[in-house]
Amino acid sequence: MSERLEEKTILVVDDEDGVRESVREILSDEGYRVLEAASGTIVAEIIRKERPRLVLLDIWMPEMDGIGLLKEIKKMEPETNVVMISGHGNIHTAVTATKFGAFDFIEKPLSLDGLLLTVRRALGESPAIVDESKRKTGKARRRGSKAKAARRSAHTLKQRTLKKSVVISGHGLHSGVKTGLILHPLPPNSGILFSGISADAAVPAHLDYVGSTGYATSLSGKGIVVGTVEHFLGVLHSYRISNLLVKVQGEIPILDGSALEFCGLIEEAGIQEQEHEWSEIVVDRPYRVEVKGDESIAIEPADFFGVRYYLDYPKPVGIQEYTYIFNGPESFKREIAPARTFGFLRDIEKLEKLGLVDGGRLSNCILLDDEKVINTELRFPDEFVRHKILDIFGDFYLLGRPIRGMVSARMTGHSDNITLLKEIKKGMDL
Ligand code: ZN
Repeated sequence: MSERLEEKTILVVDDEDGVRESVREILSDEGYRVLEAASGTIVAEIIRKERPRLVLLDIWMPEMDGIGLLKEIKKMEPETNVVMISGHGNIHTAVTATKFGAFDFIEKPLSLDGLLLTVRRALGESPAIVDESKRKTGKARRRGSKAKAARRSAHTLKQRTLKKSVVISGHGLHSGVKTGLILHPLPPNSGILFSGISADAAVPAHLDYVGSTGYATSLSGKGIVVGTVEHFLGVLHSYRISNLLVKVQGEIPILDGSALEFCGLIEEAGIQEQEHEWSEIVVDRPYRVEVKGDESIAIEPADFFGVRYYLDYPKPVGIQEYTYIFNGPESFKREIAPARTFGFLRDIEKLEKLGLVDGGRLSNCILLDDEKVINTELRFPDEFVRHKILDIFGDFYLLGRPIRGMVSARMTGHSDNITLLKEIKKGMDL
C-alpha cells in the first residue's frame, strides 16, 4: 500500500438516518472523524478518497447486498476492518460475513458502551473484551497459583489461541435449530469466552457459569445462554487452547454427534503459542462423588490426565469399559473425538414429546432400539463408553485450565461431573 489508512477515520454505511446520526454523535464525542453513507453506491469512492481505518456497515439495506459490499471493501482495502451492523442477530449471516472478513458485529438498537468497545477493538485500541467475570477467573487463578506455586511450576505451559478466525455451521441437537460457530483468537489471559454475535458481553467457559446439566452441559450468565458445550470444550481441552472468543447463538452445533469436526476446525485455524504462561491444575488428593446405587465418579492424583469409564446399559450396549490416558491431541483425535452421542429410541420419543430433541435431526446421534443400532454403523465396538469419556474431557475444562489427575467414573453423567469439579474447586481453593 502506498499510503497509510486514516487511523481516526470511521465510515458509517446505513440507510437509517437515525442510526448514522447516533453513531456520529457517539464517535465524534470520542474524537473520531466520522464519514457517512446512506447507500452503498458511494462507498467505494469514499474509501478510495478517505481511506478510513474502520467501516461500520449495515448488513440489511434496501437494494443493497451487505455481504457483497463487505467483499468489495475487503478487496479494495484488506487492512480496513469492517464491523457489520445487524438488525436481528442471525448466526448464519454472521458466519458468512466472518468468512468474508468481517471483524465483528454490533446489533441494533446500538448501545453506547457496546459500540465504543467494538470500535476500540476494531481499531486495535482496546486489546481484550472487558468482562468482569474474566477478571474474577483471573483472580482465582492467581490465588490458586500462590498456594500451589511449587508443585505447579513443573507443569507450566505456554498459553495458546488460534492463528486466525474460523467458522462452522450445523444444527443444535436439542433445539434442532440451524446454528453456527465463529471462533476468534484472543490475547493472553482472556480465557475461553462465549458471546452472541456481537462480542460486547460474554460468558466464560467456567464452572461458576454452568446452567443446566440434564442431557448436556450449558453455560449461562451475562444474558447469554449456550447449550451443549461439552464436545467442543473437550477439543479445546485436548488442544490446550487457553484464549478464544466463541460466537454462537443458543446452542453449539451437534454436527455428527462427535468432536471430530471441531478438531478439524482447530487444525484449519492453526494454533498460536502466546508469550504468557499458565499452569495445569494438578489434583492434590483424591476427590469422590457417590451418586446413587453403583454410580460414582472420582479423581486421584496422577502425572497425566486420564479417564477410566465403566458403563452397564441395557441391550444392545451391555457392559463397556475403556481407559484413556491423554498424551496429546493426536491420540485424542484417534481414540475419543470420533465417538458419537447416542440415544435409545424409547427415550428419544419421550424427549421429543417434551420438545427436548427435534426428530428431524436424528442423523446427529447413534440411535438404538432394544436389539440393535438402527441408523448407522458404529465407528468402534465400544463407541458408547468412548463418548462418555469425551463428555468428561469437555466438562473437566470448566475449571478454566487443563487438569492432571486420573478420573474413574461409573454410569455417571454431566451433573455428576460438575459436582466433582465443584468439590475439586473447593478442596483446592481454585
Ligand atoms: Zn456427549
